[in-house]
Amino acid sequence: MTKNRKRTKIVATLGPACSTKEIIEEMMESGVNVFRVNFSHAEYGDVAEKIKIIREINDRRDFHVAILVDLQGPKLRVGVMGEKVKLKIGDTFTFTTEKCDGTNEKAFMTYQNFPKDVKVGEHILVDDGKLLFEVIATDNNSNVTTQVLRGGKLKSKKGVNLPNTKISLPALTKKDIEDALFAIKMEVDWIALSFVRTSKDLIKLKELIKENSSYKIPIIAKIEKPEAIENIDEIMPYCDGIMVARGDLGVEVPMEQVPLLQKRLVSIAKKAHKPVIIATQMMETMITSQVPTRAEVNDVANSIMDGADAVMLSGETSVGEFPIEVIDQMRRIIESVENSPLISIPDENVKCVDKRYISKIICRQAALMSNSINAEVITTLTDSGYTAFHISSWRPQSNILVFSSNKRILAMLNLLWGVKGVYYNKFVSTDQTIEDINNLANQRGYLNEGDFAINITSMPVKERGMANTLRITEFSKN
Ligand code: PEP
Repeated sequence: MTKNRKRTKIVATLGPACSTKEIIEEMMESGVNVFRVNFSHAEYGDVAEKIKIIREINDRRDFHVAILVDLQGPKLRVGVMGEKVKLKIGDTFTFTTEKCDGTNEKAFMTYQNFPKDVKVGEHILVDDGKLLFEVIATDNNSNVTTQVLRGGKLKSKKGVNLPNTKISLPALTKKDIEDALFAIKMEVDWIALSFVRTSKDLIKLKELIKENSSYKIPIIAKIEKPEAIENIDEIMPYCDGIMVARGDLGVEVPMEQVPLLQKRLVSIAKKAHKPVIIATQMMETMITSQVPTRAEVNDVANSIMDGADAVMLSGETSVGEFPIEVIDQMRRIIESVENSPLISIPDENVKCVDKRYISKIICRQAALMSNSINAEVITTLTDSGYTAFHISSWRPQSNILVFSSNKRILAMLNLLWGVKGVYYNKFVSTDQTIEDINNLANQRGYLNEGDFAINITSMPVKERGMANTLRITEFSKN
């Protein structure tokens, strides 16, 4: 384990810019907690090779860097366009589901049900919203006639967003199912699903995982559709975390609404005790520049103060010129703001509603108590990660050390704010276990003579039951 004390986590997207073992290891040393595989671009052979490298470094360096696979979902695209297609405001333009090369009059649309699903008056956005069209007619078969509202160059294979249309495409495309099965085979730590609309989308992915994996791989719902915002309360119980996917979200809703939506989604995730990743264009200029803009520094800092568990890099690390420098820069921003009192324990009482009540209240009290007595660490033992999710969501000032005999759980938990995983497999007696744990915290530099540790455990420890015990230890080596 490095003595990296930052608590907000960094998710970095893999790509050609981080193709060597040396670069990947340096990125991990600099502060990457989770590597993301973006299946909009990835190739199986390359992904398998990189996962092998990451796991070898994890084992050798005692890291627990996680792998998150991001499924493309029902992403729509135009087909191949001719070289000089440039559209002007007021032009009439047709999207057709019949295969053709694009011209100034028409473009192929990959989504076959489009003429049936779309309604007159709805908007079509292409290339991250650079071009905007309004539907003026549909033949309900293969052609949709539109008027150009915002013109420009229309290039091949650009993404299409339909913010107002209820599309009838399945949440998991054939490609997503193949990619998910590959991810299960590679024993990845998280799977994210793009363009989630309702809880049903997540249930389909959960079923696929259950049928093909004995390990319950947790799911991230990418929030990037207006329907997902509308349905967020029913989505939350069916995911294990969310991503504020600002790239597509800023096309699907007016982009000026994204800052407040980000704050709302972070607060919803924290109340559900689930992690939230803030994604896209965080350090965009560092794709080609050695320094970020002041606005980017502020964006990362404000996301941390909003309460994000993790901030994500996309092109900056996958195709950028400075994949290590961008991690260093992001880590410095995190370290400089995260001790601020603006990151505080959410003011919410735990309600006695279910059988997990005892664990929940223990986690909440551990966080409150650690702040009151300036404890250096909160420790917990876990088989499922449950207590780690809860302690982390209360944002205590102390470090959260999570001990588990399951390395997969330790890697999965690396996405969560403040959580540091430590491998431990003894579980003899409560006294012995707490002594071992505090000694391990000391060896790793988290606990010194006279410091307070708050130890969460379950008694009797051998039964590995629900957390039910909270102990304060004043650390002493003897
Ligand atoms: C996004 O849209 O912000 C996002 C993270 O998804 P992708 O990178 O797949 O477009």
